Amino acid sequence: MRENALSSISTESGKLNLIGLAPDSLAKFFVGLGEKPYRVKQIMRWIYQRGVLEFDEMTDLSLRLRSQLNLVATMSLPKVIRIDHARDGTLKWVLDVGAGQAVEAVYIPEPNRSTLCISSQAGCAMDCSFCATGRRGFNRNLSAAEILGQVIIANQELAPESSITNIVFMGMGEPLANYREVVQVTKLLIDDHAMGLSRRRVTISTSGLVPQIRKLAHDCNVALAVSLHAPTDDLRDKLVPINQRHRINELLEACWNYSESVASRHITFEYVMLAGVNDGVQDAISLIKLLKNRPAKVNLIPFNSFPGTQYTCSEADVIRRFCMKLRASGIVATIRRTRGDDISAACGQLAGQVKNRMLVRLGNRKIRAAL
Ligand code: SAH
Ligand code: SF4
Repeated sequence: MRENALSSISTESGKLNLIGLAPDSLAKFFVGLGEKPYRVKQIMRWIYQRGVLEFDEMTDLSLRLRSQLNLVATMSLPKVIRIDHARDGTLKWVLDVGAGQAVEAVYIPEPNRSTLCISSQAGCAMDCSFCATGRRGFNRNLSAAEILGQVIIANQELAPESSITNIVFMGMGEPLANYREVVQVTKLLIDDHAMGLSRRRVTISTSGLVPQIRKLAHDCNVALAVSLHAPTDDLRDKLVPINQRHRINELLEACWNYSESVASRHITFEYVMLAGVNDGVQDAISLIKLLKNRPAKVNLIPFNSFPGTQYTCSEADVIRRFCMKLRASGIVATIRRTRGDDISAACGQLAGQVKNRMLVRLGNRKIRAAL
C-alpha cells in the first residue's frame, strides 16, 4: 500500500489519486477511513464501468463518505492536449503528462472490434533503429494512473456503440520495462469489477525482456506479442539492441514456456518489413526454422516511415510473397493493415513530446543505463 499510495499521490493537490490503484491498496485506504472493504467494488464500478469521476455523483456512498473522499482523494487523468482524426476513423490523443512530456494513445475501429493502443512510458530506452519512439529517447515510466487514464479518456470520448473491446500495449514505450505499473493496470483491465475485458483481448507487446516474460506468465498471463523483426542474432542485434543481452534462442524458450502457462495459447511475433534488410527469401526460410510447429503466429508490419529514418518499406509484392512462404510452411501469418498514418498514428510513428534523459547514446550502454 505504502509504495502504491505514494506513487499515486497527485502532486498538485496532495490527495491520493484512486485511478489505477490496486484493489488491495484501495481496500486498505477505505479501512483507514473507517469503511468496509466492500467499498472497493462500489468505487471501481463507478470509475471504470460508469466513467463517473465525481465523488458527489456516487450515490450508493454515504454523504459523509463522499465529503471525506473529496478532502483526501482525487481521480485525476492526464490532460488532453489534442485529438487528431484520421480519414479511416482512427483517433489519436496527445496527452500531457507534466513537465513538458506528452504521450499518445490511438483508437482503431474495425468492423467487429475496436482497439485502443496505449503507451506505457514517455519515450523508450530500447533504441530500436526503425522506431520513431525509440529515436526520441526516454524520459520516464508512466504511472498506473497515467496508463489507465488513457483508457478512461478514450471511453469518455467514444459513443457507447464504439466502445473499446481490445487493448494493446503497442503505443510509446517498452511495457515490460515498466513492469510493476503495467501489471497493475493489466489486472484492472481484466478485473470484472473494473474494466472486465477478457484476458485474450489484452495484449502486451515486448521487444524481448526475457526475465519479465517469465515473470508475467505467473503474474498476469494476458496475450503476448513479441517484436522479433529478424531471424538471426546478427541482424536482430542491429534492429532490436536488447537482443545483445537476450539472444533469440533464450527469447523463444521464454515464449514457448509462456504459451504453455496459458493453456497453449499462441504467441504473436511481430516482424516489421524493411526493404533489403530483413525481407529476403533466406530471411523467410530462417524464420520458418525458428517458428515452425510452435505455438506461433506471425504478424508482418509494413514499415511506417517517419522523418529522418534510414529505412524504407518493402514492396507490397515482397511482403505478400514473404507471407505466402510462411503460410506454405504451416505458420499462421497475416499482414497488418496500416491505420491512421495521415495523423502519424501508425505502428512506430508515435513520437509524442519527450525530453530525452539518456545521456549515453551508445547502443547497448544506453539500454543498461535505463533498465
Ligand atoms: N515497445 C513494444 C511496443 C511497440 S509498438 C514493442 O517493441 O514490442 C508495436 C509494434 O510496432 C512493435 O512490434 C514495434 O517493433 C513495431 N514498430 C516500431 N516502429 C515501427 C515502424 N516504424 N513501422 C512499423 N512497425 C514499427
Ligand atoms: Fe521501444 Fe518498442 Fe520502439 Fe523498440 S519498437 S524503441 S521497444 S517502442
